[in-house]
Amino acid sequence: MGKALIIGCGGVASVMIHKCCQNSDIFQEIMIASRTKSKCDALKAKLKREKTKINTAEVNADNTAELVALIENFNPDIVVNLALPYQDLSIMEACIATKKHYVDTANYEPKNEAKFEYKWQWNYKERFKNAGITALLGSGFDPGVTGVFAAYAQKHHFDEVHYLDILDANAGDHGHPFATNFNPEINIREVTSNGSYWENGNFLHTKPMEIKKVYNFPQIGLKDIYLLNHEEIESLALNLKGIKKIRFFMTFSQSYLNHLKCLENVGMTSIKPINYRGMEIIPLQFLKAILPDPASLGPRTHGKTNIGCIFQGIKDNKEKRYYLYNVCDHQECYKETGSQAISYTTGVPAMIGTMLVMQGIWQKPGVHNIEEFDPDPFMEALNKWGLPWQEDFNPDLVD
Ligand code: NDP
Repeated sequence: MGKALIIGCGGVASVMIHKCCQNSDIFQEIMIASRTKSKCDALKAKLKREKTKINTAEVNADNTAELVALIENFNPDIVVNLALPYQDLSIMEACIATKKHYVDTANYEPKNEAKFEYKWQWNYKERFKNAGITALLGSGFDPGVTGVFAAYAQKHHFDEVHYLDILDANAGDHGHPFATNFNPEINIREVTSNGSYWENGNFLHTKPMEIKKVYNFPQIGLKDIYLLNHEEIESLALNLKGIKKIRFFMTFSQSYLNHLKCLENVGMTSIKPINYRGMEIIPLQFLKAILPDPASLGPRTHGKTNIGCIFQGIKDNKEKRYYLYNVCDHQECYKETGSQAISYTTGVPAMIGTMLVMQGIWQKPGVHNIEEFDPDPFMEALNKWGLPWQEDFNPDLVD
């Protein structure tokens, strides 16, 4: 069918690229381009592939001119941003300049401020529309599948969804005292920020980890969950008809939280530059350099993830509750792609979203969040490509 340029070659990109190779009728040729070309070449050497042709390149995705040159040279149908949220805008600029579709899995965040919001990317709506190209924002799991689940619940199960709780549980054990399951810098910026949830038209803010609940997850059991600020709340608050309240919860073990608190207390999670022996360093970036690389966790992570959405609302004038979730096994993911389930649950939806845009099934000039598209082909593809979903029509609620 066509050609995709994939930018970044970390844990998530590795899974997406494995999946593209399994889906070679769609992904006939890909280019893996990242800051460190040797990583792209090492991944290429590991891939089992039938037909997909693979190229590699070095690119600094902060530099739009470099990106434009690469895109013009390779001439892909679509550009997939699996680098970091800092690169969203430079890559979107390059897509406009070359008139190529754009997909990502995380919304823009400025490097010098731990703050994510869609406003920067939504500002590109008119320019993408005028260029006749589609930007699909947030095609990972959360954001990503959670938005597709919301669109599916709204389309098939409710007249109005009033309450949504997004629950992200990871019962995986990697045996390290402290490690993050995806990019440590992005992950720690997220979990040390204030929490927030959306209610009746407003964001309400909490201190980090201030709200704790306990939930009994299917196939995982009882877990502590903590309320976080998460990016899909902002778009779902606009796109779910009749919605009154949206919260996002994630599991953390006590050991993870103790380590994090200690690192925070000594200043290691700070993003303010400090001078060390005449050199400027950012403590969090230094911490990232000494923490285990998330891509190395695959062989040692055992257990399962359970990520899903609990909806409450009205159908045919009756109150209704509905739980949609996916359970994913770390070791199964590792056997298939060499990565643990966090990269897997993000890389598979990135491949599916890209495929739907390439096929024209999800093309709509402009900048769109994932829940703005018809969820049905994506839901079907989740079952086919390794993330089958399950339903519960009488779930326990988070109090
Ligand atoms: P990694 O840190 O493993 O990979 C990031 C890759 O981007 C690395 O290959 C890195 O290169 C490359 N990169 C960084 N900066 C540049 C640059 N300026 N130019 C070119 N390449 C660059 O991260 P993950 O794979 O864990 O995460 C990838 C993305 O997925 C992130 O944006 C993350 O927030 C998002 N994510 C989304 C989730 C979801 O469910 N929606 C869940 C998990 C992650 P190098 O190797 O040289 O450092």
